[in-house]
Amino acid sequence: MSFDVEGVRAQFPILKREIDGNPLVYLDNAATTQKPQCVIDTLVEYYSNYNSNVHRGAHRLADEATTRYEAARDCVAGFINARARQEVIWTSGTTEAINIVAHGLAKQLQPGDEVVVTEMEHHANIVTWQQACLSSGAALKVAPIFDSGELDQTAFEQLLTNKTRLVAFPHVSNSLGTVNPIVAMTAKAKSVGALVLIDGAQGIAHGGVDVQAIGCDFYAFSGHKMFGPTGVGVLWGRESLLAEWPVWQTGGEMISEVTYQSASWNTLPYRLEAGTPNIAGVIGLGAAIDWFSKLDLLGLQQHERALMAHATALAIDFEGLRIVGQAPEKSGVLSFLMDGGHPADIGFLLDRQGIAIRTGHHCAEPLMRRLAVPGTARASFSIYTRTSEIDALFTALDKVKFMLA
Ligand code: PMP
Repeated sequence: MSFDVEGVRAQFPILKREIDGNPLVYLDNAATTQKPQCVIDTLVEYYSNYNSNVHRGAHRLADEATTRYEAARDCVAGFINARARQEVIWTSGTTEAINIVAHGLAKQLQPGDEVVVTEMEHHANIVTWQQACLSSGAALKVAPIFDSGELDQTAFEQLLTNKTRLVAFPHVSNSLGTVNPIVAMTAKAKSVGALVLIDGAQGIAHGGVDVQAIGCDFYAFSGHKMFGPTGVGVLWGRESLLAEWPVWQTGGEMISEVTYQSASWNTLPYRLEAGTPNIAGVIGLGAAIDWFSKLDLLGLQQHERALMAHATALAIDFEGLRIVGQAPEKSGVLSFLMDGGHPADIGFLLDRQGIAIRTGHHCAEPLMRRLAVPGTARASFSIYTRTSEIDALFTALDKVKFMLA
């Protein structure tokens, strides 16, 4: 039985929108995904019925909020197969999660140490490590990609030495859609004793993630890219590391005891969660994961593969269009350029026809420079994307071509 795209779509109210009389064709899912009604309802219910701070109230609303908030942590822990719930740290998103790891590691990095990233990194996974290296005297090494956007695994392996302290790479590239062989890459990095951080911002919403099976030390992702609210995300990390590292921010919640002279820290996960958290966001993310994990995950992977194959075939046949990024394993992203049109023009002219894509450098300027492109036009798909919407994209691109001529 094929994946029930229409059944899924019916749960996303925004997909009924029209843009200037055209049905909305939302192909900007790598930037953020839309939210199903159950997530929207969960947010409304929280603010309407039990809005309260968590962990510290002596009343019913606080109990209810705390129960739902901590249940969301269990939900995430189960979804990614964490060893323990205290390994799930709430953050504001992938960016903050990576920054927490960098903050923890920065104190341990020394001149002579090395951090390895890849050429396909989002800025969040470059600048953070670049700055940690600059302040510690460690060296940042960048594993190269082929022109296809696939990582050069031999070169990657050659960069790994006994000086490598941390290896950071994306599960899926947001600009090119390249899916990295994260299990094999983790094993290679572990064989030299390095820590491994996976930027899962684009990997989390395309099927199951099992952090224990991957074998990494950290996996970071954002709620808003997997049908949850913005402003909430997850850092999953090994308890043995997170429990030892310096605290990230100080304030309420993360303490055990405070005097004017000193303070001691709470246990995990709270020691890394200072201040009032994004309670509605966390509960909303719990609802999103609960909803997502009940879907036919195998079916949705097949659906997304079929969408990718269909889009790629149409793109190859489209005269004057060049696909940017043709790795053998790709997920959900078609980046492209068109003769005679800057990506920004393509985006503008598609928007006039109700088609939402993203254009520009996709927070990956060094990658754009490496590929010698000014940026790309990027159509990105999700579980609710119809095959007919990809056809609509190419029909609209025909018009764009005509307008650009
Ligand atoms: N890494 C990748 C691969 C991403 O696609 C993104 C979001 N575009 C991020 C990191 C940063 O995520 P956020 O802005 O939600 O923190």
